[in-house]
Amino acid sequence: MAETHRLIVVGAGPAGLTAAIYAGRAGVSALVLEQLGAGGQVTQTVEIENYPGFAKVDGQELAARMREQAEKCGATIKRASVKGLRRENGLWIVETARGEFAAESVIAATGARRRHLEVPGETEYAGAGVSYCATCDGMFFRGKKVAVVGGGSVAFEDALYLSRICEHVTLIHRRDGFRAEPTLVERVRAAENIDMKLFYTVAEIRGKDGLVSEIELASTRDGSRETLEVGGVFVAVGTLPETEWLSGHAPLDDGGYVDVDERCTVGDGLFVAGDCRRKPIYQIVTACADGAVAANAACAYLEK
Ligand code: NAP
Repeated sequence: MAETHRLIVVGAGPAGLTAAIYAGRAGVSALVLEQLGAGGQVTQTVEIENYPGFAKVDGQELAARMREQAEKCGATIKRASVKGLRRENGLWIVETARGEFAAESVIAATGARRRHLEVPGETEYAGAGVSYCATCDGMFFRGKKVAVVGGGSVAFEDALYLSRICEHVTLIHRRDGFRAEPTLVERVRAAENIDMKLFYTVAEIRGKDGLVSEIELASTRDGSRETLEVGGVFVAVGTLPETEWLSGHAPLDDGGYVDVDERCTVGDGLFVAGDCRRKPIYQIVTACADGAVAANAACAYLEK
């Protein structure tokens, strides 16, 4: 028999931890299941400058504070990677690599993972020069020349972070328009050791002695090819929602995002919060807002 809870929150990023804080304050102690360390994508950001109340805060520090607050509000945080979900006798059964957990209500806050380039050499050199997290791996590239791929805020933040550690950073983007915040673009343009290589994509990642040594670039304008010597490639080409486990229970759009409105409600006690939900803006504050809304709705459901 699976251990039974009133509320399980799946995911311990800002959405999940906020949901646990709001549920706790409403008298419902949540079990929060986390995949790796609590905090989610926010822990991969060094300087957050758009979370109100903190002019500048380190992502790991913000995540640690949220976690501490959730635990103070009665949440239990457990490490268990979610595999699936099913409905049984009016309860939700959350299937994980560490067994099953049952609950009357579930808040899905599993966020998103980094998208891959899907080019030759990427898988082969993952962990040997190919990275998806500049703040986790940047130190291994001290003094080297590296490339960052992407035109969103994450790519620009990664380029700035790496410019402080590495000899040189080339930011590669497939066009000359950016999704990144304008202030980040300005800072990258002003950095002495960052160059932008625009209208190029990465066609192949090659290595020597088991480590990345160069990348082949393809022009998006005329298809021409050129080689760039780098010791590392940081891939920052967006995210994919972690929603496979919800398939069949929640409406998913073409991109895999849960297609529910800002009430965060799927039905039968299932709620969705944060970056795994389709929404206009993916920010820490909007993830937290979802967490609060979902917890409020879940507590109302449990009261009924
Ligand atoms: P993003 O904003 O979706 O940007 C992804 C970038 O990767 C785009 O520039 C895209 O190019 C490019 N791209 C996608 N597939 C590619 C491929 N196969 N090859 C080459 N380039 C490819 O993703 P993100 O930077 O990871 O950010 C995710 C979310 O978090 C966003 O909503 C962002 O606003 C938010 N965020 C905000 C902040 C902040 O406010 N400071 C910080 C971090 C993240 P195109 O532009 O040509 O499509």
